[in-house]
Amino acid sequence: MAIVIIFIVHWYLTIFIHSFFLHRYASHKQFTMSRGWEKFFYIMTWMTLGSNYLSAYGYGVMHRMHHAFADTKDDPHSPKFSKNVFEMMWQTRTRYNNINYQKIDIDEKFTSGAVQWHAFEKIADTWYSRLFYAFAIIALYAFLATAWWQWLLLPIHLVMAPIQGAIVNWFSHIFGYRNFELKNTSTNSLPFDFLLLGENYHNNHHKYGSRANFGGIRWHEIDITYQIIKVFNFLGIVKLKKPVTVNLKTTVPGPSLEVEEKVAKRV
Ligand SMILES: [Zn+2]
Ligand SMILES: [Zn+2]
Repeated sequence: MAIVIIFIVHWYLTIFIHSFFLHRYASHKQFTMSRGWEKFFYIMTWMTLGSNYLSAYGYGVMHRMHHAFADTKDDPHSPKFSKNVFEMMWQTRTRYNNINYQKIDIDEKFTSGAVQWHAFEKIADTWYSRLFYAFAIIALYAFLATAWWQWLLLPIHLVMAPIQGAIVNWFSHIFGYRNFELKNTSTNSLPFDFLLLGENYHNNHHKYGSRANFGGIRWHEIDITYQIIKVFNFLGIVKLKKPVTVNLKTTVPGPSLEVEEKVAKRV
């Protein structure tokens, strides 16, 4: 059972770093942190994403473009312009590489203030590093797997971060409910986001990109990553910016609006 526990713990550490550092910090700057903590979380990104390592620069810039061009032909990833999830993910990979290795010209508004640590990238963003990490995971299975079916987790384990990205970028632009009518197709794809620590409240997030709390519009929308950020803020690891005011007039009318108003005043 050790493999199953390692898999679950690794899944949540990966999505936490993805959401906390790459998404909310590197791309949206919803809070600030010292250069020392930034380096610490850069290293944590390598330790958790490993074989799927993503640069905070490449991710941050690409994601800013997703918000600016969501569901248009310039969107780095949109289900509207892909036949299936695999095609969309392959396009995302190509566009990420073009951005990260500066193969294309990008408007300064997307790169301004982007997080970068060149010296570390030279180690973390290499095929040696990716292969080393992948072999380490395979070795873990070889030592700890106690039943054949546990090996079925290995292919998922090796591409955990792209799977998490695909869940948000595909399913949270197709299925689910909307609190806000927007020009893009974003949805909140799970009523309680137990899989992706807040990332599935994607419609809320597209409406208020600079708001650190992705949930809190409806009573059941609990954003676990935001709860952890509040603890980090209390401990002085990060400094949250002024809370964003939520305008409920733009919400889709529904029976729970009265409850929403009460909740929204606290966010
Ligand atoms: Zn989106
Ligand atoms: Zn975002």
